[in-house]
Amino acid sequence: MAQLQNGYSNKKQLDIVVVGAGLVGSLEALYLAKRGHRVRLYEFREDIRKTPTARGRSINLALSVRGRRALKDVGLETHMIKEHGIPMTGRRIHRTDGSTYVIPYDANTKQCIYSVGRNYLNSLLLQESEKYDNVERYFNHKLIESNLKKGSLTFQRTDTNEQVHVTADLIIGADGAFSAVRKAMMKRPFFDFSQKYIEHGYLELCIPADDNGSFQMPANYLHIWPRGEFMMIALPNQDASWTVTLFMPFSKFKNLDTEEKLIAFFEKYFPDSIPLIGKDKLVEDFFAGSPSPLVAIKCRPYNVEDKALIIGDAAHAVVPFYGQGMNAGFEDCSLLDELFQKHNDNLVEILNEFSDTRWEDTFAISDLAMYNYIEMRDLVTRPSYRLRKAMDDFIFWLLPNFWVPLYNSVTFSTMPYSRCIKNREWQDQVLKKTWSFFGVAALIGGAVALKLKHFV
Ligand SMILES: Cc1cc2nc3c(=O)[nH]c(=O)nc-3n(C[C@H](O)[C@H](O)[C@H](O)COP(=O)(O)OP(=O)(O)OC[C@H]3O[C@@H](n4cnc5c(N)ncnc54)[C@H](O)[C@@H]3O)c2cc1C
Repeated sequence: MAQLQNGYSNKKQLDIVVVGAGLVGSLEALYLAKRGHRVRLYEFREDIRKTPTARGRSINLALSVRGRRALKDVGLETHMIKEHGIPMTGRRIHRTDGSTYVIPYDANTKQCIYSVGRNYLNSLLLQESEKYDNVERYFNHKLIESNLKKGSLTFQRTDTNEQVHVTADLIIGADGAFSAVRKAMMKRPFFDFSQKYIEHGYLELCIPADDNGSFQMPANYLHIWPRGEFMMIALPNQDASWTVTLFMPFSKFKNLDTEEKLIAFFEKYFPDSIPLIGKDKLVEDFFAGSPSPLVAIKCRPYNVEDKALIIGDAAHAVVPFYGQGMNAGFEDCSLLDELFQKHNDNLVEILNEFSDTRWEDTFAISDLAMYNYIEMRDLVTRPSYRLRKAMDDFIFWLLPNFWVPLYNSVTFSTMPYSRCIKNREWQDQVLKKTWSFFGVAALIGGAVALKLKHFV
């Protein structure tokens, strides 16, 4: 059995069931295993390590500081960053004439985000859990019924149809945006819930490696084709291919219903991408799938007394435009771990504090992610955005501890998300007052100059 954290070998071992062996559930299992608790991880699908292709959503993800911190805690950060992360140092913007320019994420301290493979990371987390005798994994088990207050769950085996009944000291629902654990919570009084489907969907395409197995575009960037109402982005993969994602209103997707219309659309808006993707491949991939919807979910409280808790997308699915969904879910696990430490495994205190404090930050990142879509698809091309970014970068360079720009605070720090917003609002006020001051000073200066001229 792997080394337990200091002092935990003598504690009462809690019996914890984690529902969902996605990114967040698999990581949470590791944190709990390190604390010496018995963990049973139940997953609806088969073991991702046995399925070579990505399932459903994005093939790669942007990993940033919050996610890295969690991976560091479970001993996987260095491996993930050094062996399987592709640094992305800034946004590389593609104009319609095919020319590009770079907007660095962090011109001063040169921090970057990393493109990582979703399947690889999920498999790595599961593989790591094999090192712990106190973790059991059950795949092909779908949660179909629960009595959270009693800590009891019923799973249906998808391979044999058999029903499996389970009880635990604590149930952690990490079963994604359409969480069955959350559905059970929704039947309870005082559970607030809202969901928002945006009118835009996404479709994934691919730019393959060139004949020499190399990247066809400069690798260390997140490439963006911002087109106002819609955009296309590309993140690099380990095999030198690119996962290209087109985000667009569903109505626009619907209009592209023939090969000719599709090619004409790409020739107008993304001409430089056609030779990279390949005309035939573009047509084939575009019509092979249909655009997927994007949903944001806010809810609270996250717990049922000391018996059940939801984390990750189950608690706070966000639209993907800040690249923070997984990072926020990983941060949930780090924060929970701190609370286990702080409250000495007292579940009432741990769950109540998590539930009472975390929602404000997850609501904040949800709002920030909605805003960032507008920034990525539209604002980045505007002079006003670039002026503000230059100002932020300059003041950050001058006073790095005093002025942290919004993107840096969200992506390269662990500042609570709600504080990132407040910080930005304060910065807006400072700049507004500064402009007003200079405006008034210029006005007074002008008036004085006029007066003096009058007397001369
Ligand atoms: C297009 C796109 C791009 C994204 N890009 C980024 C990015 O760059 N950076 C980032 O940080 N985030 C990104 N995200 C968000 C990220 O994918 C999610 O936040 C993250 O996957 C959430 O992990 P999770 O484990 O909470 O949920 P999930 O990944 O959804 O995992 C839930 C697991 O629970 C299982 N499950 C579901 N129901 C049951 C049941 N009834 N019984 C048992 N098991 C069940 C599922 O099979 C699944 O394995 C992106 C999302 C999308 C859609």
